[in-house]
Formats: sequence, structure tokens, C-alpha cells
Amino acid sequence: MKVLIVGGGGREHALAWKCGQSPRVTAVFVAPGNAGTALEPKISNVAIAADDVPALLAFAAREAIDLTIVGPEGPLVLGIVDRFSAAGLRCFGPSRAAARLEGSKAYTKEFLVRHGIPSAGHATFTRANFSADYVRAQRLPVVVKADGLAAGKGVVICETHEAALAACHGMLGGDFGAAGETIVVEEFLVGEEVSFIVIAHDQQVLPLATSQDHKRRDDGDLGPNTGGMGAYSPAPVVDAVLHQRIMREVIEPTLRGLRADGNPYTGFLYAGLMIAPDGTPNVLEFNCRFGDPETQPILMRLRSDLTTLCDAALDGRLDAVQALWDDRAALGVVMAAGGYPDAYRKGEPIEGLPAAALLPGKVFHAGTLAQGEQVVTNGGRVLCAVGLGVDIVAARAEAYDLVAAIHWNLVQYRRDIGHRAIARELSGESRP
Ligand code: AMP
Repeated sequence: MKVLIVGGGGREHALAWKCGQSPRVTAVFVAPGNAGTALEPKISNVAIAADDVPALLAFAAREAIDLTIVGPEGPLVLGIVDRFSAAGLRCFGPSRAAARLEGSKAYTKEFLVRHGIPSAGHATFTRANFSADYVRAQRLPVVVKADGLAAGKGVVICETHEAALAACHGMLGGDFGAAGETIVVEEFLVGEEVSFIVIAHDQQVLPLATSQDHKRRDDGDLGPNTGGMGAYSPAPVVDAVLHQRIMREVIEPTLRGLRADGNPYTGFLYAGLMIAPDGTPNVLEFNCRFGDPETQPILMRLRSDLTTLCDAALDGRLDAVQALWDDRAALGVVMAAGGYPDAYRKGEPIEGLPAAALLPGKVFHAGTLAQGEQVVTNGGRVLCAVGLGVDIVAARAEAYDLVAAIHWNLVQYRRDIGHRAIARELSGESRP
């Protein structure tokens, strides 16, 4: 079979790499891919942008692609699955209507309240009904979010009311274009953040291995929010009891609610959760696709054939399949360009990739570009070095050995990925 992966980041490198391992798969195309996907056996890049749905459709039809897996949210929100389905092509992901769960935070908050799914208290505003008094009355810190997609930058955690009002005015004033015409002002939640990712088809659910990521740029979970600076799987905080609560209180009511609203869901469904001290799994956000960088460590542990799981979902047979996992832990460290998530340079030559390729573990590419033999940086998040080990401590050692082998001018990465899980391991709490 022939597979098309839409996207060009670390998540897409991992998806393509995993699909390429399937004996059923003869060829994997990645649109547009990166320098890493270009080097993998069976995999080739196609120079089509991830959100150029008409060109992707034409390519998939011409190449008779058997299965398309969509990495990023952009094309899903644009309705790529609806377009492919209408043309008789199998495309794994939610419809445009179901993808609103990620595309609009205001819609999602309303959905969560209506279906009794736990999340932070909130109010939604436009310029027409904005209330500075409401914002001033909120306990600090307070969280301000742009309604639409804002490339991971539309969430501001404000320590003062002045900062919150400035964030509201900035968003409503057009700082994020149409994405900020509506804003959500939300209660700040404390607890431990967990990513819970499932493969879903209507009411059928296949939970994937648990994971946790680090969103802040700097060690100690400090500094600005980013797309993610590292992740690991499993997440020891998700024990059997919490796993059950998340399924019962979040995933199942969400899929039921989507069906009741007339938008049954197929695809990866990612719940970003804040686990309150009393164990309540509060929903911070939904993503309608696999997480980046969670995909990289999760797929390092997946022993089943990913194309079989996606096919089972598309055929409504998800209840009949199981996902098999490597018992080992996986941990990925994102190597980013200096300055990220603000302005950063592209085009820096990356040294050490051939040496790293000889080490255990796997380096997934994200923002990279091949210039002849030389691979150069081409984005904010550049690589994700993933190690495997008997526990998170061992996986971390393998990942940082890869990191140590690689260098470029102004590279930055966190040195403490996995610190919460490692503290748990060292304190003797067993893995779930
Ligand atoms: P979101 O895109 O909504 O998940 O927000 C990005 C990040 O901001 C989350 O991963 C959290 O770290 C943080 N965040 C968002 N909403 C809240 C909240 N209500 N309370 C605390 N932290 C939050």
C-alpha cells in the first residue's frame, strides 16, 4: 500500500518512519516533509504545502494513495478529510466540523460546559461585549486565549490585571487577526499537565500510551510557552485509576457529545489535561491530531502497525484491534534554534547528525533542510532526539547522548526533560 503523510515537522517524520516500517507499505510520501524524512528508506518528500488541499488531493488521486494521515491541524480545520472522502480517498482525521474542537476555543468551552466535562471556569468575549470589569474581578493569574488557531501563541498567562487587559485588548485589536476576534478569559488551574491521546472512531476508542510534554522553553518549566520542548512516555502520573477517570469523564463524554451534536469524530484525539490535586482531569484544550513532540516518544514505543490501526478506525473496526507497546520508556528532547519561540535564524549548518545516527535511539527532524550534503536549520524546533530505556532515567540518558553528539550555532534545549517523572521514579513510586 501507498501512504501519504501531510506535514513537515517532527511528528510527521515519526509518523512516516513508523508507517515505513510496515511490511504492507511499499511507499510513503511526505508533503512537504523535511531533510530527515528525505533520508528514510521507502520515504520520499513531495513539494506540496501541508495546507494546499487541492494539490494534495490531486497528488493522492494521481498516485492512488491508499491511506493519507494528516499531521497538523491546519488542513483538518480546512476540511481536508471531507474533500478526500468526497473523492473516494481514505484520509485519517476528523471532518472539518469535528475539527472545530481544536479550531475554536470558544466553541470548545461551550461544548465542555454543555456536556458536563470538567474544565476551567471561563467567559467568552468579542469587542462588542468585552467587559474590563469582569477581567479585573478575576483571581490572578488569569489566562487569556485567542479563539482561533494562533500557532501555539494564542494563550497568555497573566500575573496582573493590567497584563490581562493588555492581552485582551491586543487580541481583540487584531494582534492575531481573525483568530483573536473572539477571546476566552479563563481561570488559572494548578496541577500536573498530561497529554492523553486516543485513536477514535465515533464511540470506539483505542487509547494510546500515555505521555507528558514540557511546554515552557526553559529548565524548571519556566520561560515562555512553546510548541513543546520535550516529551516522554509513559507518564507515571497516569495510573490505572486516573486512566479510567480520563476515559469516563473526558474521552467518552466528548465522543458522545460530538455524535449528539452531529459531528462524529474519527482520527487522533488529543486531550490536554490539567490533573487537579484531587485527581479531577480538567480539559485545557483538545487537539484534533497527534501531539508534537509526544508523537515521537509514543511511536518509538508502538509495536503494532500504525497503518493497521488507522485502517481499523476508518473501517469502524477499532474495537477489534489492540495496540501493542514496548515496555520500555521513551523520552524526546527538542533541539531548537536560539531565540525560539521568538525570532530565530534559519540556515545554520547542523553538525554531528552522522555520528548521532550510529548511536542507539532516534533523531527525528522537524525544521531542517538539505542543502546538498549539508543539513541546515529551517525552523524554530529543529530536531527531537528520542532515547529508549528500562525507565525514564535510562531513556533520558540515551536521548541526551544523542543531543551531545549534535551541534549548531545558537542551539538551545532543555536539560531537565522528564524531571517530574524522574522525581517520581527516584521516590520509589512504581510505573503504572
Ligand atoms: P492551550 O493551548 O489552551 O493548551 O494552552 C497552552 C498551555 O497554556 C497549556 O499547555 C498550559 O500549560 C497553559 N494553560 C492553558 N490554560 C490554562 C489554565 N486554565 N490554567 C493553567 N495553565 C493553562
